[in-house]
Amino acid sequence: MLIINCCTRFHAPSSIRISVVRRRTHSQTHSFCCFGHENNSLAKSPMEQSNLSANTVMDHPRALTDKINLIRDAGPSKFQVIADFDATLTRYRVNGLRGQTSHGLLQQGNAYYDAKRQALYDHYHPLEISPLIPVDEKTKLMEEWWSKTHELLIEGGLTYEAIKKSVADSSIAFRQGVTELFEFLEKKEIPVLIFSAGLADVIEEVLRQNLHRTFKNVKIVSNRMVFNDDGQLVSFKGKLIHVLNKNEHALDMAAPLHDRLGVDTAEEDEENANMKKRTNVLLMGDHLGDLRMSDGLNYETRISIGFLNDNIEKSLESYREAFDLVYLNDAPMWGVLELVSQLFSTEAS
Ligand SMILES: [Mg+2]
Repeated sequence: MLIINCCTRFHAPSSIRISVVRRRTHSQTHSFCCFGHENNSLAKSPMEQSNLSANTVMDHPRALTDKINLIRDAGPSKFQVIADFDATLTRYRVNGLRGQTSHGLLQQGNAYYDAKRQALYDHYHPLEISPLIPVDEKTKLMEEWWSKTHELLIEGGLTYEAIKKSVADSSIAFRQGVTELFEFLEKKEIPVLIFSAGLADVIEEVLRQNLHRTFKNVKIVSNRMVFNDDGQLVSFKGKLIHVLNKNEHALDMAAPLHDRLGVDTAEEDEENANMKKRTNVLLMGDHLGDLRMSDGLNYETRISIGFLNDNIEKSLESYREAFDLVYLNDAPMWGVLELVSQLFSTEAS
């Protein structure tokens, strides 16, 4: 049983306040924290606030405060947000059951091809998570898996309509506060890169159907489809992005979210090159491997946030070592929103 045994608060410089609650188990002490602010218009009800605190873990509050100050001093023009999609921006559980992922939800409208893709998953997924396969060998296997899956999607005649229907029928949902987070960042002209080894076109449709608007600052870096005039998939464009290379090296695949499927993305080279100059980063992911999303960016200061959704007892130690902040139990995005709103409050920008 966890017992709250003390609560300390300290004032970080410039009115950022981090409250730390220490909880002790028989064998170890966990530090939990949440962000507070003197004039906090984002404050939730006391119950929501206390739920969020209880689901937030932070080992080194002073180090985080130092990063916050460095990022704030450099200003929003030096800052970018990098986020994984599945189980990071989206919820791990929906209505008490495991929510679907952007790749898992796709139904081609053709049971034969859906089954063939599932068979590939059954074969390659154990290889993906095997700790025994060296990374270069695993990279080849992942390329093989992704290429075969893409071929099946083309061969099976995937259409816009099948994507729209798959998304409409899916159980996928965003964490509370994602829209507000994107809106805040859009106002501050801070770009958000969503990295995924899935399918950009599916992710964009999930965003359109669930958030009901587009954001100028949000770009997807993922595998992109090419459709013919009948709305049928004919090929994939650019480089293949799989689990082991979804990082800023793949930035040339970044394209903004459009209000409909099948829009050919214009050249974004200059804008994407400017991303490299934004050397302060907030990174969010739900796997330790997501920390590699900032590979390829020579960043100065990085705040990393991990969402630990499952196997908490088993994984907490490694997550708290790897990430600056860890949110447990499918926590909403309110803590992240408070963090960025304090980094770049209206007065500070
Ligand atoms: Mg994920």
